[in-house]
Amino acid sequence: MPAKIYYDKDADLALLKDKTIAILGYGSQGHGQAQNLRDSGCNVLVAELPGTPNYEQSLSDGFKPVSAKEATKKGDIVTILLPDEVQADVFRSQIRENLSPGNMLICSHGFNVHFGQFDIPRSVAVVLVAPKGPGHLVRKEFVDGRGVPCLIALGEGAGEKQKALGLAYAKGIGGTRAGVIETTFAEETETDLFGEQVVLCGGLTALVKAGYETLVEAGYQPEMAYFECMHEVKLIVDLMYQGGMSYMRYSISNTAEYGDYTRGGRIITDQTKAEMKRILAEIQDGRFAREWILENKANAPAFKAMRRRERAHGIEQIGRGLRRLMSWIDAKEV
Ligand code: NDP
Ligand code: MG
Repeated sequence: MPAKIYYDKDADLALLKDKTIAILGYGSQGHGQAQNLRDSGCNVLVAELPGTPNYEQSLSDGFKPVSAKEATKKGDIVTILLPDEVQADVFRSQIRENLSPGNMLICSHGFNVHFGQFDIPRSVAVVLVAPKGPGHLVRKEFVDGRGVPCLIALGEGAGEKQKALGLAYAKGIGGTRAGVIETTFAEETETDLFGEQVVLCGGLTALVKAGYETLVEAGYQPEMAYFECMHEVKLIVDLMYQGGMSYMRYSISNTAEYGDYTRGGRIITDQTKAEMKRILAEIQDGRFAREWILENKANAPAFKAMRRRERAHGIEQIGRGLRRLMSWIDAKEV
């Protein structure tokens, strides 16, 4: 069934007129959503941690940041845009007891709500308004008179009234200019985790590394392996982004296209797809969420070790040097 999509005409900004919107966290999403809502005429209050770069940023953008506790007390709508892994602690210590009956919570990712990490009071409804793009794009598109598509989902306690408020909020950040797609907390959370684990982050980096290692182990120069297995990913992805796989295949050589059809299925096999199904099941039954939540409770030792090891991989060493040769790519380092 095709998704239900809402546009500007389906949303009424006047619903937000006498409301205070508390934006907790002035990071990627926070800075975009807070400024767009303010420019849409809404009354916005920002919460940030004093002494951090984003605190200074919110000051220079003209906000007077307060604590999450203070902002929650004053807010009628409270948007939690803190890092996902700190949200549960801040919810427990600063948000929960400062919510008033009739307040509405908004989040931009369903993880903590869907996996039961917030003990939300019965008198408070929760709605998901999730831009399908990073915060800087949410801001840039809005300033240019356009918007980034958003998702909307109704959580516990939310009905038609909260849906109208959620759509008004989405209009305030520019989302209804592009389209707001209706979903559920379960669908948003589970597909988001699946995509990042299997295709976008986990799948892609594993594919790139395995290709690079195969060439280097066969005696080819690492520089060549880097260009073929990592650098050129962007060229291919840009073509797919613009016109799907057909356009990408139309743009590459016939030799590359033939190799694609005849070899691709030997790399991503039935066995790979069976593993994808197991990973999806771990997401759906909460095993991944429990693992990640417990990892953070232990101060993330395995996460930090994996990050350290991955940063030392040969492809990262070689890539750093090669990217310096290409002035146009705006090379970054962490
Ligand atoms: P960021 O890490 O960019 O920003 C979070 C901000 O919250 C940081 O400035 C952080 O400060 C601040 N912060 C941390 N603790 C507190 C506290 N106790 N009180 C006040 N401020 C605090 O997060 P994102 O914007 O990336 O993510 C926010 C939400 O949006 C998440 O749920 C995420 O899943 C969702 N989302 C993100 C997208 C993206 O592209 N980034 C896309 C769609 C959804 P400090 O930096 O000092 O820690
Ligand atoms: Mg409040």
